[in-house]
Amino acid sequence: MALVSPTNLLSLHHASGDQTTALNNCPSRRYRYANETNGEQPLKIPDPMLFLSPSTDHRPKVLPTISHCAIHLEMLEVFHTLRHEVIQSTNLDAAFDIGPRATTKSRRKWDSRTRKYIAEAVLIQDPNIGDKRKMKWTYFLHIAATRFHEWIRRVANHLKDAQLGAPLPRYLFLPPLDVLVIWHAFLLNCDDFKAYCEKNKLFGIQDIVFPWADIHAAIDPDTWKYTLPSEHSDWLLNTHGLDSNLVETLAHSGKKDTLIQNVLHAFYEPQKRSKQHSTSRLSQTLRKARQTQELNKPLVENVERQCVFVDKMHAHRWIRSPAVAGTLRRAVDRYGKFLHLFRLHPDQFLVPTLDVDLVWHTHQCSAGRYRTFVTERVGRFINHEDKIGRGTLDDGFTNAEQWYRLRYGEQYQVCLCWSCEAILEEVEELDDDEFGELDPQLGDLASRVERRVHYYREVEVARTLGREMPLWGHG
Ligand SMILES: [Zn+2]
Repeated sequence: MALVSPTNLLSLHHASGDQTTALNNCPSRRYRYANETNGEQPLKIPDPMLFLSPSTDHRPKVLPTISHCAIHLEMLEVFHTLRHEVIQSTNLDAAFDIGPRATTKSRRKWDSRTRKYIAEAVLIQDPNIGDKRKMKWTYFLHIAATRFHEWIRRVANHLKDAQLGAPLPRYLFLPPLDVLVIWHAFLLNCDDFKAYCEKNKLFGIQDIVFPWADIHAAIDPDTWKYTLPSEHSDWLLNTHGLDSNLVETLAHSGKKDTLIQNVLHAFYEPQKRSKQHSTSRLSQTLRKARQTQELNKPLVENVERQCVFVDKMHAHRWIRSPAVAGTLRRAVDRYGKFLHLFRLHPDQFLVPTLDVDLVWHTHQCSAGRYRTFVTERVGRFINHEDKIGRGTLDDGFTNAEQWYRLRYGEQYQVCLCWSCEAILEEVEELDDDEFGELDPQLGDLASRVERRVHYYREVEVARTLGREMPLWGHG
């Protein structure tokens, strides 16, 4: 492949698309690869140091940490993977009885042998099968929302018991993945979540500090799979009847249990509702999910809106970037400044950039802390509202951009691509180490950035396509 000639820094930004295309076509052969050596390991990406002690800072009045934001990015990758898994699962297609309904039509055809027109059957493929399969995600979320209500009520009960001296179970705040998806998106609609907790008298739920460290421990950074510790999943199942892996449970029960099948099929074709019911816990949950679809719609829609953000984060893939630590450090700093603008301009509607939004979401995940912090810092509560239309958002963005630049003398909208962020990191290091040097070696800097970004990019492509991993240090 063509090498970037890194003589100027802007070329690195521009080359990124071409580089990815080239790597998608074939490995660069710039490295040795894992299969060519004796068990040498590729660089760990993301660097485990990024997550060091995510839970040490328990002071309520600090901004989210880099670790929290990094775990948030991991979690969003897990959500992205889950949605893909649900939509692509043929087992779940079978469980919900969603399949291509091919139809046959008869066509007139000239038969040269008999010299007559004859009727011929033609199979018409189901053109809507793609959209039908996507419906599974919505059904899945409805079941998840039902499980969320069950889960959060139990957590609240434990918190109440703890007031009377009962010990808190170790992983109490760590939910099954589907429940986590619902809870997370709900938390990003702060006022709605508060109203829900108050209406349902959910004791202590607003004050939960989001369990970042436990979530991180449940995530496999290579596959973005989420697995609860077995003692916890056993406890959830035995004490509360909650299966920890909803995808597996549905796929499995949808295969062998006809009564479960009946309820699942009714999601897609409500007229198929059966009068025969199983008394199993799962069957009850599924029936409830069907009956409360209208009620749970807002929770499901929260997630659907959040999927847009998840997709954006997946497209940027900061969590796999060589410069992720710097990107997140600057994002936290920029978020602090963004919040301050609300104080300075109380009458303005302000919209965050993508990096600032990530930190904002991270902050909101610990609902009570966010509320206290913001009310104190800004002088009033700032609700996060993701139901706002495009035009208003654009105005809010222009406002924020203008005030940010005036106040801080910095760009509000920055590129945030791997190359530009890696350059920034190198330049920041120059500032520290080589301050006062008149001639920083620009060419050296550019080639260091190019090498590093190239390697990270090739690792990510290899991971996505299931190729052998390139090894660092042999470029
Ligand atoms: Zn860029």
